[in-house]
Amino acid sequence: MTDRPSGDGLRRGSRLWATAWVVILSGMFTASAQPQPTTIGVEVDLRDLPRRLVHSTIQIPCKPGRELAIWHPKWIPGTHEPCGSIENTGGLRIQSPDGATIPWRRDELDLYRIVFKAPADVSSVRVTLDTICNQAAIEASGHLTFGNKLVGVVNWSTCVLYPEGPTAAETTVELSARLPETWKYATALKTEAVADGLIRFAPVSLVDLIDSPLIAGEHLRTIKLETGPYPPASFHLATDAPASLELNPNVIAQYSRLVREAGALFGSYHHDDFQFLVTCSDDLGYLGLEHLASSLNGVGARDLLDDHLRVGWVANLIPHEYVHSWCGKYRRPAGMCTPNFHSPMATRLLWVYEGLTQYLGDVLMVRCGLVKPEDYKRTLTGSIGDLVLQSGRRWRSLEDTAVASSILRARSPNWNELRRSQDYYSEGALLWMEIDALIRQKTDGKKSLDDFCKAFLGGPTKPEKVAPYELPEIAARLNEIAPNDWKTFLEDRVTRPLDALPVDFVARLGYRLQFGAGPSAPDHGRRRVGLSARHSLGLTFGDDGRVVDVAPGMIADRSGLSKGTKVVGINGRTFSAEALHDALTASVSDKKVDFLIVEGDRLRPLTLAYADGLRHPELVRDPSQPDLLAAILKPRDTTVETKKEEAPKTAANASPTKPQPTLPKGYVCYRADRPIAVDGKLDDPAWDAAPWTDAFVDIEGDRKPLPRFETRAKMLWDDEYFYIAARLKEPHVWGTLTQHDAVIFQDNDFEVFIDPDGDNHEYYEIEINALNTEWDLFLKKPYRDGGPAENAWEIPGLKKGVAVAGTLNKPSDVDEAWSVELAFPWKVLAEFAHRPSPPNDGDQWRVNFSRVEWLHDVVDGQYRKVPKTPEDNWVWSPQGVVDMHRPERWGFVQFSTAKPGTASFRPDPAVPVRDRLMQIYHAQSAFQRNNKAWTETLDPLDLGPLPAGMPRHTTAIRKTPEGYEAAITFEPQGQPPQTWTVRQDSRISRNP
Ligand SMILES: [Zn+2]
Repeated sequence: MTDRPSGDGLRRGSRLWATAWVVILSGMFTASAQPQPTTIGVEVDLRDLPRRLVHSTIQIPCKPGRELAIWHPKWIPGTHEPCGSIENTGGLRIQSPDGATIPWRRDELDLYRIVFKAPADVSSVRVTLDTICNQAAIEASGHLTFGNKLVGVVNWSTCVLYPEGPTAAETTVELSARLPETWKYATALKTEAVADGLIRFAPVSLVDLIDSPLIAGEHLRTIKLETGPYPPASFHLATDAPASLELNPNVIAQYSRLVREAGALFGSYHHDDFQFLVTCSDDLGYLGLEHLASSLNGVGARDLLDDHLRVGWVANLIPHEYVHSWCGKYRRPAGMCTPNFHSPMATRLLWVYEGLTQYLGDVLMVRCGLVKPEDYKRTLTGSIGDLVLQSGRRWRSLEDTAVASSILRARSPNWNELRRSQDYYSEGALLWMEIDALIRQKTDGKKSLDDFCKAFLGGPTKPEKVAPYELPEIAARLNEIAPNDWKTFLEDRVTRPLDALPVDFVARLGYRLQFGAGPSAPDHGRRRVGLSARHSLGLTFGDDGRVVDVAPGMIADRSGLSKGTKVVGINGRTFSAEALHDALTASVSDKKVDFLIVEGDRLRPLTLAYADGLRHPELVRDPSQPDLLAAILKPRDTTVETKKEEAPKTAANASPTKPQPTLPKGYVCYRADRPIAVDGKLDDPAWDAAPWTDAFVDIEGDRKPLPRFETRAKMLWDDEYFYIAARLKEPHVWGTLTQHDAVIFQDNDFEVFIDPDGDNHEYYEIEINALNTEWDLFLKKPYRDGGPAENAWEIPGLKKGVAVAGTLNKPSDVDEAWSVELAFPWKVLAEFAHRPSPPNDGDQWRVNFSRVEWLHDVVDGQYRKVPKTPEDNWVWSPQGVVDMHRPERWGFVQFSTAKPGTASFRPDPAVPVRDRLMQIYHAQSAFQRNNKAWTETLDPLDLGPLPAGMPRHTTAIRKTPEGYEAAITFEPQGQPPQTWTVRQDSRISRNP
């Protein structure tokens, strides 16, 4: 691929990661009967690198009068294939010390092997090697040497030949190099001296030499990362333009966190210090290669500067190559621990080497903040969608993609899903995600893959040896963490062809994989490769309607369509993204899609009997199960206190697409089996049976940092009351308001919102502070629709209590928490409930909780709010925006008469339909503001993408004397059709 990475990040990544292994340290690799240590001298002249030439001189000892073979490095670590760049040799001469030319010949059976006979009186020869640079191999380039006028990347494997005989660990290299005069450089090699422009490096083994690339250039900046208690790490940037050096401090902080999150994950390091070598150049482009004490990363000039570019493959690159220091460098499949650079490698276990690295790189990338969990979920969904279509897994096992790695590096331009690519990356990553979920389930969340990583990849800091492994060790180590028949599990997954991608892990993570209308807008503004109808028709189109891919076995394949066919018309319209979208939507009722295709100079109609509408993979949260994905992605590092980092408010930060609402939270509320004393203390035995809610999050959800202090709530009910309890961790409990119905949120408070029938109208609100002062009110409608808030409304018979674990209004000590207990009489809630109150078993009410938290100072021994600072709003079910008065975003509380812990939450299948109706409501309001009229069709409305999980449906809008009513009808699985409506005042209701 010559294009820059697109939205198809994982796949491209799997091709560009020319991931290198290198034998690390001596010891185990003394393959020969007796060690034959040898030293070669290498002087590399890089002054012509801007002109794409490098000149090397190599001094090699030899035995007088004897034949000697010397090798170009062939199996380059991390590329997993014999791809040393001999095709780029521009000159090779061998001379005796007196300058006489020694003839050489190439081994006909191995082109990397050069043979010559040393003259009788000669004990060392001088080899001069000219290397042509910037000639990228087709699918790997991280092991090559590149340069332009301003930036250079040097891989020493392109500059040396080594003698046959000694192992790479036994071969010492004395390296020196000359750079263009004004260039600076960075490498994991240690500099011994610089004299007259010649840099002399400390001698290293051939292993370490090839494991230590160098970047250099006119503009080079080194940034020391904040690594806390972990070994030092530096971020080196070499760029075409000085402007590319100015990384945002937040981004630097994220890379610092990457190092600390790796420390928290692995527990130890296998290097003294680490060098992130990064080139930012549109000219040199994309490359990546791992090493033990450094990593080589090449991205575009602005990729690290612009938030919208630092996504996908680019975001993943640096964490991925970094993880390899543990997985691939310190620990390595035994078959890849070869003694030199010409012995072939057995790559069967690449699903560990690359698959586990891919998974951990993804996880660390989110834990350190480089990528938001929601964005990662989108990438994950795309990866699952790609793999689902890989029908080649029916004949070729995952392991075979690893064994055959070197012939699968490039994606096949035709029928790639039949052939498969290097699926051990992305499918391997899913396998490790499943193992992570399994460990968490089998140990009730006490253990995770993190524990396996510590045991398997952590190990002694600075090992004396690389540690090879085979499959039985993996199974045994997993067994130590969570007993299971891992060997059978892994063999079933890896060594055999499979009928379909195993997707059980999705449910284990607490999600459902479904195919729905999905995202219709491009992912975060990034260009997608063509228009996808892959999961519906089995077709991917170029922008001009040309078919660029046909998925095997899908309807387009069965209809004989092939790549290259041009579709000019669809359902009677000219082909376009919109026409495709509309035709797929209409297929539900039409039961077909009509194409007009070009064949030679003829047009031919073609009808596909397709009736399943838009189909894109979606991961939808299953609120009845714990969210293991969130647990996996949660940061671990606690070594450096995290400061609140405000992202600079630039246009680049603005999300080009409207945020998709997250699914409202769900909670099963059981009956209290004995009375509750409502005193604020949560010590009544009845509460023991009630589960805590998830910890509260920011009102805006994932887009904002997690709250500073934990808050959780519980609920119970009996024939008289709806009980709510909350515990608010708080180092400084204070309150000032004592007047009933004062505006309580001017203090820190706890708030409850209840909409019994979930119609967005006629709901209750109560706010309470640590002084047990409450404000209760009733809203006929949300403020957006005119409210009003009725302060006069009261809750006769409300029971309330507050308890403080600590001291109230005493700044000189640190408190623990305060807690609230509330009991709402059903009789009062019944007033506007429009449904049974107390509820029936299984009834769901819309409820949310909010906690307002102000920053404070201490003035004259008293708490004072910091003037002119906004409050924090932490909530149970995130609202997406700073507005509690959007009842459509509140959580679902399901009342149950079952024994506590035995009922499961039943997600309402109408949630996406209600979300869609709210999209229509907001778009209608905007339309009305602009046009002073309502519309009766969807076309003029700016609706945004369909909500995730949107079922097949029909929409109708009609005008009413007051405004309009929009109705959506759909058929939940196994149930009769439902019709839901919304009006101009946001009232949502279900028609009988
Ligand atoms: Zn890799």
